[in-house]
Amino acid sequence: MSNTDLSRRGLLKTSFLGAAAAGATSFGLSGQAQAAAPKAAEYDAVILGAGPAGLIAAITAHDAGARVVVLEKRDRPDGNAIFALGSVCGWGTRHQKEQGIEDTAEAFYAMMMDISKQMGDKALNRTYTDNISAGIDWLESDIGVKFGKIRPMPYPRLGRTCRVVGDGITGGAALVQALLKAAKKRGIEIKYQHKAIELLHDDLFAVTGVKAATPDGIVTINAKAGVCIATGGFSANPEMVDRYIGGWATRMVLRGSKSTTGENISLTMPLFTKFVNMDQFHSGPIVGATHVNPADVLNSGYGVQVNTSGDRFMDENNTYVIKARTTGQMTLDNMAWVIVDSDCSVLDKVIPKYDRLNSPYGKADTIEALCKQVNLPAAKVAKVVKAYNDALAAGKLGDMNPPCTYKKPHPVAKAPFYAIPFQGGMTATFGGPLINVKAEIQNLDGKSIPGLYAVGNAAGGIFFHNYAGGAQLGAATVFGRIAGNELAARAKKIQH
Ligand SMILES: Cc1cc2nc3c(=O)[nH]c(=O)nc-3n(C[C@H](O)[C@H](O)[C@H](O)COP(=O)(O)OP(=O)(O)OC[C@H]3O[C@@H](n4cnc5c(N)ncnc54)[C@H](O)[C@@H]3O)c2cc1C
Repeated sequence: MSNTDLSRRGLLKTSFLGAAAAGATSFGLSGQAQAAAPKAAEYDAVILGAGPAGLIAAITAHDAGARVVVLEKRDRPDGNAIFALGSVCGWGTRHQKEQGIEDTAEAFYAMMMDISKQMGDKALNRTYTDNISAGIDWLESDIGVKFGKIRPMPYPRLGRTCRVVGDGITGGAALVQALLKAAKKRGIEIKYQHKAIELLHDDLFAVTGVKAATPDGIVTINAKAGVCIATGGFSANPEMVDRYIGGWATRMVLRGSKSTTGENISLTMPLFTKFVNMDQFHSGPIVGATHVNPADVLNSGYGVQVNTSGDRFMDENNTYVIKARTTGQMTLDNMAWVIVDSDCSVLDKVIPKYDRLNSPYGKADTIEALCKQVNLPAAKVAKVVKAYNDALAAGKLGDMNPPCTYKKPHPVAKAPFYAIPFQGGMTATFGGPLINVKAEIQNLDGKSIPGLYAVGNAAGGIFFHNYAGGAQLGAATVFGRIAGNELAARAKKIQH
């Protein structure tokens, strides 16, 4: 059976045969009756996960002389990258120079640390800063990734992100496509439907390989120099989200992949790994049923926000990240509405988007009629809107409970009115095994676990609280390349 044409019938057949074979062993049949155990495959480096971080590590290790294999649990790359816009964030790049943008390493590093509220690992953020420009160059020159023009970031308003050109697909998917093409050109093996389920190690806890579940049964793959975990985070594992973040977060809508189920944690836990930032994640607003992104209206500085009981529950001036998280945390059903009037400056952007995706919203000439349309308590919401307008007129928005700190507030007064729904969505978790600047996973004694690396969303330490737009794919690039080079160097050392 090939890796790619595995039917459900085939799966059932193999699992039945697998059970029969196990039964034969336990009944003590002679060696003649039993099939000889297949010899484990051996590579210098085994990379787990065919997302950008894993593919970058694999290509780099290959180019540095290592024999590499990538194991991917799905029948295609299926991680968060497929959903990503494809922004990559850096400084001192060709793009900045061509567009006359002056920037410095110090300013960039300061931004990374500010966004993490000074809680991101300093050495890792410094490593990112020092290596991102070369990483973006490499993506362009060696991989053939095409970037569009640089865009200013919301904070600081400086051009640091360039987006991978998607041509009809997301920039993230285009990045993965380019990496797959580059891997194929180099003859790098990618084994699909190979889900890593256990790390193998020697008596000193040096990692020596991996066991993977395939439709043909469990296979063992030895890794001379080590294993790199690039399996993404744990946002799609509700039990882990509950355990590490809290029950409320399990009700958040997944903004990305269903395949990021926390094997960065479950695989490395038996090796006494040090985990960090396990309660940290990135969030954004979304409508679960249609996946429409309401960020434009939430960032617009217009409107009053209420929960399904018709109460205001947060400062409308929060960032979209905080709004998404607060909606998940402070509402019972992870559901909220922004009530805006027809003066709202982004309606021409937002409403066509909702219409295109057939995503319901309310529109009516009075607040009462609006609420009836969308099943909000009309009398309560009318009172809330009046209280907001009165406070605005009196210059007392900051005295409301919760306060509203809009810098340039607008009344909700001009019909027609709109009720636009949104929910809190989870983009990605930031927690995981702590890595050092060589992408080596650290244990609870503060030592590197020999032969074990983590990159991309699987690694912990870089991000806390929030991330600079484009820095997750940037980190996948920087630390993917570092892990690839480290694995190749370790393979050479072991050989001699
Ligand atoms: C809506 C959205 C927009 C985003 N936009 C941006 C952006 O513009 N810029 C940015 O920097 N970041 C962005 N991100 C984040 C970005 O997508 C991630 O940082 C990036 O995908 C991480 O890459 P990765 O390779 O670590 O993981 P992933 O892309 O998640 O890939 C992990 C891979 O590992 C596989 N896998 C999982 N478990 C196993 C296992 N046990 N064995 C084998 N394989 C396994 C998965 O199937 C998957 O293919 C966005 C995310 C979302 C959800």
